[in-house]
Amino acid sequence: MIKTTPIPDLPFETFFTYQQVTDFLQALAVARPDLCKLDSLGSSREDREVHLLTLTDFASGAPEDKPGYLIHGNIHAPELSGTHAALYTARQLVADHEQSDLLRKVAFYIVPRLNPDGAEFVVTTSGRVRSRTDRTHLEPNTLYQKDVNHDGLILSMRQKHPDGPFVADPEDARLLIRRKSGSQPPFYRVLPEGEIHDWDGTDHLLVEGRSFDWNRNWSYDWRPEPEQHGAGDFPFSEPEMRHIARFIHAHPNLFAVLGYHSGPNAVLRPPSTGSDDDLDEGDVRMMEDLARIGAKHTGFPVIPVVKYHDDRTRDINLRGHFHNFGYHHLGLFVFEFELGIMEN
Ligand SMILES: [Zn+2]
Repeated sequence: MIKTTPIPDLPFETFFTYQQVTDFLQALAVARPDLCKLDSLGSSREDREVHLLTLTDFASGAPEDKPGYLIHGNIHAPELSGTHAALYTARQLVADHEQSDLLRKVAFYIVPRLNPDGAEFVVTTSGRVRSRTDRTHLEPNTLYQKDVNHDGLILSMRQKHPDGPFVADPEDARLLIRRKSGSQPPFYRVLPEGEIHDWDGTDHLLVEGRSFDWNRNWSYDWRPEPEQHGAGDFPFSEPEMRHIARFIHAHPNLFAVLGYHSGPNAVLRPPSTGSDDDLDEGDVRMMEDLARIGAKHTGFPVIPVVKYHDDRTRDINLRGHFHNFGYHHLGLFVFEFELGIMEN
């Protein structure tokens, strides 16, 4: 008799710490070693593994000999639902294996938490950071988030301020709402719990130092600060981005990539700069058709990245973005699901 270990449950009550992500992936790999293999793409700056789960029916052929589909999540630190979505996808592919031949035909490469350090900061403190903070050069008059009273949380504080963008909600003064023209004082601004470095006593404060956005750190059409906010010092200056770029280059069997994010609902496709005219016409049709399948299942609209903006009237032209890197450099069909949990 073959002894089987059940595949692990995926609870949705809380977001996962790094240890919980690791435990879940290990449990899945132990339960179905015929379908799952757990590796690391490399280490993060703070020495956590960037986990890679390879999912395929190994008995039907090596993953490199099959078309490959890469799924990643949580490149942006607060977008923790991306990790859960990637883990859920992995679990579902395993659970459905008996009724589907997908894992016999395709190799899935799943990187559920591309940014383990940033995500750990967010999940353990509730602090806010786009991808990572830079504490190597502290700027004067800058408030750096810190759990000052050691209660395990970085909380927000309201402060009366003539230029503050908020007013108290007339129905419940514990809540703040956006200030509008005609709103009456007092006005408030909101600051995170933390410490002001080298304060000059004025209230001209910046919050956090330099910000990095790892989805602006890719090598296609990369532009430095200040032209592209969050770009980093040079393409692939961030070790985690180097790890996944090396993996992508070493796997010519890849045909498509899906990233999970948590901005306002959308199925995003290339281009992230320019227009559809810069893309092959057949590719646009193919990506649009595939994205529409995602739209049908999610109810989200299909939007090219360049149009992913509130009013859709102007182009946002994100430089060094993953979509253009994947499509223009490597001919990959690239998508992102914006899961809509928070503002992006
Ligand atoms: Zn994002």
